[in-house]
Amino acid sequence: MALTVGVIGAGQLARMMIPAAVNLGIDLRVLAEADGMSAELAAVRVGDYRDLPTVLAFAKTVDVITFDHEHVPQQILRELVREGVTVHPGPDALLYAQDKLLMREKLAELGLPVPDWARITEPSGLADFLQQHGGRAVVKTARGGYDGKGVRVVSHEHDVDDWFQALAEDGNDGALLVEELVHFSRELAQVVARRPSGEIAVWPVVETVQKGGVCAEVIAPAPQSAGRLADVATDIAVAVAEGIGVTGVLAVELFQTTDERLLINELAMRPHNSGHWSIDGSTTSQFEQHLRAVLDLPLGATGARDPWTVMVNIFGGPASGSLGDRYGAALAQHPHVKVHNYGKASRPGRKVGHVTAGGDDLDEVVYQARATAQIFQD
Ligand code: ADP
Repeated sequence: MALTVGVIGAGQLARMMIPAAVNLGIDLRVLAEADGMSAELAAVRVGDYRDLPTVLAFAKTVDVITFDHEHVPQQILRELVREGVTVHPGPDALLYAQDKLLMREKLAELGLPVPDWARITEPSGLADFLQQHGGRAVVKTARGGYDGKGVRVVSHEHDVDDWFQALAEDGNDGALLVEELVHFSRELAQVVARRPSGEIAVWPVVETVQKGGVCAEVIAPAPQSAGRLADVATDIAVAVAEGIGVTGVLAVELFQTTDERLLINELAMRPHNSGHWSIDGSTTSQFEQHLRAVLDLPLGATGARDPWTVMVNIFGGPASGSLGDRYGAALAQHPHVKVHNYGKASRPGRKVGHVTAGGDDLDEVVYQARATAQIFQD
């Protein structure tokens, strides 16, 4: 049985695949952009993921190619497939995680719930949309955005002239995505995994809390989600996975609107921050599941180990130095909390690790996780 997986990208997502690969005896190899990346504990080859010969040479050493990010150009992905390389998720699916306009079009075509949206190529298009939507909207760049970069709340037709300008300078006939400003009571995420042969596994729907457009905390399961809400979230994510033909882990970010609808915000076709809780909190972590799925192996059980699991991200800051400097205090004061250190240099605002706490009293679990993360950020 072939068990060599190649991961393009060497950030913390690739890094967190390593323990699962070790346990299952999977040979995990990583194509890193540079030396010193987070996933350097695996067998690493350094090279440019935008260079076909580099990616092809890497692909020839593994049984399946998968990803830690969504930035590998379509041309390269399609060339890999032409050369007979197994790629999961494949280019036809990944396209919709790479381009938010194509994603909105596809989801609408599948009849799935999304915010009102339009494709705009000039300020007058934005003016029309603003007029129809009460004077405020959200504009997004179709490509290249992450952690809230490339997302802007606007109220004037000229609020994104710089983005139109940049598209024009690229000689690109590109467009921007404009969406209604959704009134949501909270954000949720539904993470699922799908094998090429069709089996799907679903984790409990979670609540995600963003600060400044960046995921800060995750509560699993989302409070008050049992029953209909969880069923709808599952149905949506399964429909996306099947409709788009996603293989591996898929995270569907959702808005729960103030009038109790679920709308799809974003798709990620790889392990996702909203699934990190599963490493300590579920029978099968999203990282192990991703490896099983891309190898087309039977998927693991996805139940939660505790009634509540809370994950809090650790962000770098001017004072944080190395996370290890705080282990004495954090590990002594919070022996039930699990600490994950991504081995990354600390820069303000950068995700450098996370902590996970579990138990049956949500207030206590939230306190334990937040207090531990805080020790690393003081
Ligand atoms: P990124 O790709 O950078 O993660 P997202 O599209 O997920 O960008 O947007 C980042 C955050 O901005 C979301 O988590 C949400 O809080 C807010 N946001 C995005 N789109 C909308 C919208 N249409 N209405 C209201 N808030 C939004």
